[in-house]
Amino acid sequence: METPDRHTDSPARLEQMAAHATRFVECHGPGQAPRLFFSPGRVNLFGGHLDYNGGPVMPTAIDRGTFIASRSRSDRLLRMASAFDHQVVEIDLDQLPAARVSKWVDYPLGVVIELATHLEDSGVALPGGLDVLYGGDLPIGSGLSSSASICVGTAVMLNSLWGLGLGKMDLVRVALRAERQFVGVHCGIMDPYAIGCARAGHLLWLDCKDETIEYLPMDGDRLSILVTNTGVQRALAASEFNRRVDECAQAFDILRLASPGAVCLRDIPLDVLESERGSMDPVLANRAEHVIHEVRRTFEAREHLLAGNPELMGECMNQTHESLRSLYEVSCPELDLLVEAAGHCPGAFGARLTGAGFGGCTVTLVRRGDEHEVQASLEARFEGEFGRCPQVEVYEGDPGPREITPA
Ligand code: ADP
Ligand code: MG
Repeated sequence: METPDRHTDSPARLEQMAAHATRFVECHGPGQAPRLFFSPGRVNLFGGHLDYNGGPVMPTAIDRGTFIASRSRSDRLLRMASAFDHQVVEIDLDQLPAARVSKWVDYPLGVVIELATHLEDSGVALPGGLDVLYGGDLPIGSGLSSSASICVGTAVMLNSLWGLGLGKMDLVRVALRAERQFVGVHCGIMDPYAIGCARAGHLLWLDCKDETIEYLPMDGDRLSILVTNTGVQRALAASEFNRRVDECAQAFDILRLASPGAVCLRDIPLDVLESERGSMDPVLANRAEHVIHEVRRTFEAREHLLAGNPELMGECMNQTHESLRSLYEVSCPELDLLVEAAGHCPGAFGARLTGAGFGGCTVTLVRRGDEHEVQASLEARFEGEFGRCPQVEVYEGDPGPREITPA
């Protein structure tokens, strides 16, 4: 993946990367300076739980992400560590594990295994060993896709250090398969696309049915993205997420019988759902209802964005949250309070939970200049209700995964 054009990293980012290089030496010992990579997280503004239903989504990469420091070794060992747990995991590149090893390392290991499979098809073996250290400034397990960030970032880093010459879309697909097949999350395509195909100052329009993408400019002079982390751990997130994927597949299996030509839940007309609802499990009908309305709302939000109408975009976000709460059942009281509180802030256009839900973060669309006022209101309401302060931050866009060389 080429370095994004015309992007200059801030002095603060260069300092962070230099500090990460220092931690790398503390972890792996002295020697040649490591190469440094940054891979952003993402926030999704429109299209909640649509990617695995073939619908459209509108995420953007954010200026928080995964830091990766890496250096070649003279043997065939891959020694990976994370600043978050300090344990070094050692993998022999000639004896890659067939099953998951421990929690976090499965993500980068899945990428290595997918790359090995990809190269095997062309008769190429994995090149030599590496020392790697991960870190970052992105909240982990909070719905901002640290998992896709580490997977895409690892694919970009390996492509570069191993001189594989793979293109952007190959790397995105390798990252997606790593999370889906090795880690075992039944995730849709949105996260690795949002990160790997990012363009600063734009929302990505990704149609998950045919995988086409467009870039929609976001007016950064008028609009700000505020992300509030509830700090609620998404304990059942992986199993509940997989359950939603399964419920949607079941709903589609029923509804497709009355919808000739439909290939995913996104294709089901509302009147088909209404005529079949009486004979369906009400939970499955609710999941389908969310998806069908969310597809329509996402197309509407796109029109409002292009027409420069943030009030109506915000209205779509509020409706999405309500639908995710009542029909899709992936919200929690902390997320609901933050969305409700944003509704009382004159500077906030709208808010919704972002990511899969079950805790994690809300995203609030805010009038540029009003961020502090909205932040103070959200903090006060949340603290009054739950007795602790949520983390509220303004996120700017990001041009995507890249190598960063500190000055
Ligand atoms: P999200 O993608 O919303 O952040 P997930 O549960 O999908 O949440 O993925 C979080 C997991 O990704 C973490 O539990 C950890 O295993 C892994 N991970 C992400 N970033 C890092 C990192 N920098 N170091 C170690 N593990 C990481
Ligand atoms: Mg994830």
